[in-house]
Amino acid sequence: MEENQEKVQEKNDENKVENAQMKTKYCKFCGAKIPVDAVICTSCGRQVEELRKADPQIIVNNANTNTNVNHNVNTSGMHRRAVDKWTSFILCLLFGYFGAHKFYEGNTGMGILYLLTGGLCGIMWVIDCIVILTKPNPYYV
Ligand SMILES: [Zn+2]
Repeated sequence: MEENQEKVQEKNDENKVENAQMKTKYCKFCGAKIPVDAVICTSCGRQVEELRKADPQIIVNNANTNTNVNHNVNTSGMHRRAVDKWTSFILCLLFGYFGAHKFYEGNTGMGILYLLTGGLCGIMWVIDCIVILTKPNPYYV
């Protein structure tokens, strides 16, 4: 404790610092003998040195991890089209083997698949007929 108090006193008492055999320089404004590490002249009070940075480096550790997770998946309601249930059902019933109802729904890819596989061996044909019957009129694809 005593040691600390002494240090504080030393800092406050600038004359004491000067008297102590420290390296000195001359103020470029008034020519007074001042400590070599003095920033402000002890005699005229002008700034003789660039202010030293009090803190060596403030490391801004601010890694911005704020990735914008904004998956705006809003595909519902887009590109949806009303399909007449009974038209689709009749097409499925009569030409479902060739995927006619799939073409009608606008699902050309599936239509071609049905066309090539015969409604996936007739299984999907039957299933689709039932599925279409359970759908509201009109239904949306
Ligand atoms: Zn000075």
